Amino acid sequence: MKTLLRHKLTHHDSSKYDGFRLTNLGYDYLAIRTMVSRGLISGVGRQIGVGKESDIFEVVTPEGETMALKLHRLGRTSFRAVKSKRDYLKHRNSYSWLYLSRLAALKEYAFMKALGEHGFPVPRAVDWNRHCVLMTLVKGFPMVQVKQLSDPPKAFDTVLGLITRLAQHGLIHCDFNEFNLMVDDDENITMIDFPQMVSITHRNAEMYFDRDVECIFKFFGKRFNYSPPGIKISKGTSEAENLDGDDEEGDGRPDFEAVAGGEESLDKVLEASGFTRKDQEVLEQFIEKAEGEEELSEEEEDSEEEDDSEQLQTETTDNSPDAVESFTKLTIDGNLDDEIDSTRDPQSLPAVSEEKTATEADGGESGSGEEEDPKLQKRLEKTRNRAAAYVKGGGRSRNSRNASKDKGGRRSKNVSSSSGYEI
Ligand code: ADP
Ligand code: MG
Repeated sequence: MKTLLRHKLTHHDSSKYDGFRLTNLGYDYLAIRTMVSRGLISGVGRQIGVGKESDIFEVVTPEGETMALKLHRLGRTSFRAVKSKRDYLKHRNSYSWLYLSRLAALKEYAFMKALGEHGFPVPRAVDWNRHCVLMTLVKGFPMVQVKQLSDPPKAFDTVLGLITRLAQHGLIHCDFNEFNLMVDDDENITMIDFPQMVSITHRNAEMYFDRDVECIFKFFGKRFNYSPPGIKISKGTSEAENLDGDDEEGDGRPDFEAVAGGEESLDKVLEASGFTRKDQEVLEQFIEKAEGEEELSEEEEDSEEEDDSEQLQTETTDNSPDAVESFTKLTIDGNLDDEIDSTRDPQSLPAVSEEKTATEADGGESGSGEEEDPKLQKRLEKTRNRAAAYVKGGGRSRNSRNASKDKGGRRSKNVSSSSGYEI
């Protein structure tokens, strides 16, 4: 225990009772160790992305291939809310943040795999363990960093086509925006970030679908000054507006009722992956309840509790293999392998106090937003807060969890940590 404490893999707490808990770092350690023991990775390099609820690192395989490892951090932002409204703690459910992060990872893996197998342009899902998903590295940049496209109409059609194809297969991305679309030098588009996806049978499906579509219309209008025929870009606001004022038809927006379903539904494929309806419900509960956080201010967001947070620098990501600097080599010389593999079952997650995990989970983020549109900014601020409220009751209508996370002041961004990731 002393060794674990010294390395901050566990934390000793004697405020309410004398006990130990696993820290985020400890959880990272176990997951990475499992990946190493499975022969999947042999080193961890720089951090290439950080969102409100995830960290993404470059990793290297024993064969020398660079991949991406996404570590889910549900609850990282929720801690702020918990601090603001202490009474939350009395009412909330008993899922730990680590458990939820694990569900998010399983879901992301399952969806990525199913989508890849059905021809969608997504990273290849390699494996998952605990809160980590191992996937292939996407070349290029998030679309938000792209200032110019050689053929905006083509990109627009591709992107809109993805939303409709997803709906045909029974799914809605729910966070379909410029932060979750990667563009390479040839302007090929890859879609990422799937923990918030829902089925077209979801009660709010149409709203989510329309919102995904709207995000794309807005972004292409603003960034590339492009809108499909029938739409004009109004000067000043640079918002895409409907030429004839008719919202029903002729505005270029696909109609949910018309496109949803029709193709093989991926629901069954996903169930077969081990991600159950129950898991989906638990995650949805998180997202919906987080909505209850809308009113909470972010005033307390600067507080940093003890944590394993890294010092991050903002930098443009270059995902080309040449950009990979060094990897911290990982070796395994312990004998925890059996214990590690037995944790594939989410239920076997160590019991961790949410309150404490949430406390511990807040941190490691840095950054500032770059929104110019005050209305959008306000909306995004609301949705940022939404990421916070899972563990208690009273969910309301749901917005995009990641839109907030991605677009807000503390949105996902690309970072590079030259120090690598040491364990
Ligand atoms: P979050 O859920 O926190 O938004 P994302 O999956 O969207 O996490 O990843 C955040 C950022 O990390 C992305 O915007 C992208 O720059 C980078 N990233 C994520 N996955 C990959 C990948 N497979 N290859 C390259 N970069 C990635
Ligand atoms: Mg994202």
